[in-house]
Amino acid sequence: MTLLDRAIVRLLPAVPKPVVQRFSARYIAGATLPEAVRTVKDLNADGKLATIDVLGEEITHEDEARAIAQAYRGVFAEIERERLDSNVSVKLTALGLHLSYDLCRENLEGVLHEAAASANFVRIDMEDSTTTDETLRLYRELRESGHDNVGVVLQAYLRRTLDDVRALADLRPNVRLCKGIYVEPFSIAYTDHDAVRASFVRCLDALLDAGAYVGVATHDEWLIGEALARIGARGLTPMDYEFQMLLGVRDSRAGELVAAGHRLRVYVPYGEHWYGYSLRRLQENPAMAGTIARATLGRAVGRA
Ligand SMILES: Cc1cc2nc3c(=O)[nH]c(=O)nc-3n(C[C@H](O)[C@H](O)[C@H](O)COP(=O)(O)OP(=O)(O)OC[C@H]3O[C@@H](n4cnc5c(N)ncnc54)[C@H](O)[C@@H]3O)c2cc1C
Repeated sequence: MTLLDRAIVRLLPAVPKPVVQRFSARYIAGATLPEAVRTVKDLNADGKLATIDVLGEEITHEDEARAIAQAYRGVFAEIERERLDSNVSVKLTALGLHLSYDLCRENLEGVLHEAAASANFVRIDMEDSTTTDETLRLYRELRESGHDNVGVVLQAYLRRTLDDVRALADLRPNVRLCKGIYVEPFSIAYTDHDAVRASFVRCLDALLDAGAYVGVATHDEWLIGEALARIGARGLTPMDYEFQMLLGVRDSRAGELVAAGHRLRVYVPYGEHWYGYSLRRLQENPAMAGTIARATLGRAVGRA
């Protein structure tokens, strides 16, 4: 990204919501579950797997957190009814983590029971660093209490992550490994592009050494190459790992991975609470900042 792009990215929260919505439409299946179902059907028809995310984060009322948990029950019902090849991803703050750890655990356990009833799986997304300890604590508690249909996410940009991999190794965890998207201070996170990549590779090696099932979640061609090299060198079969990408990002590269025989899962978010997710996607799209600036200026000029 150029310096100008970076400056524009920082100003994105000031961009009018309708503009954000217009430019982020490709990243979101829609506001409703039927729209998500349609998207997943199309992905499945192309040989891609999915993980459905009910959008919602930083929930501030218990009722909202329970409503999100309830929405996941509807998602599992549709996955069954429509025979979709999809699991789900959940955000702990959407299930009430900031309100109470116990409320969040209760909501998540409800979702896990619902998933287990149809032999399905729940991935706990990782949010900003204020949630890392509690997320990993809850993941361990759930695994130790017998829930096997749950996985977690680790973020390569955090300096702690290699230690987290080692601490989780005894669980033979199912881990989505990604770079990490939240803005974190230099003291706890690598901020240099190459350092994040190097950490990603170190963590990937450590996870594979620990016998973890890894969801390699990246659109970064260099990292995809590094992952493919490791998969080949270790003689892994396609059921031992998967690649993961976000809806609306590098669709054709995802198709190439499928054609080459790899499992590829697409993250499919839907729901009313689209704003936070959309901002994060636009902020990391290298081509988007300038386009949005022009669109916003265009509106301003048009109104003048
Ligand atoms: C399935 C999945 C789940 C994720 N879950 C989490 C999570 O739980 N917690 C978390 O912190 N982060 C999560 N992320 C986000 C992740 O941490 C990164 O922020 C994001 O994937 C971008 O990093 P990258 O590895 O793709 O590399 P980048 O260097 O950012 O991107 C590589 C290339 O991909 C393309 N690209 C990337 N993003 C976009 C975009 N928005 N629009 C258009 N093109 C783009 C560009 O061509 C870019 O050059 C997830 C990512 C994926 C794929």
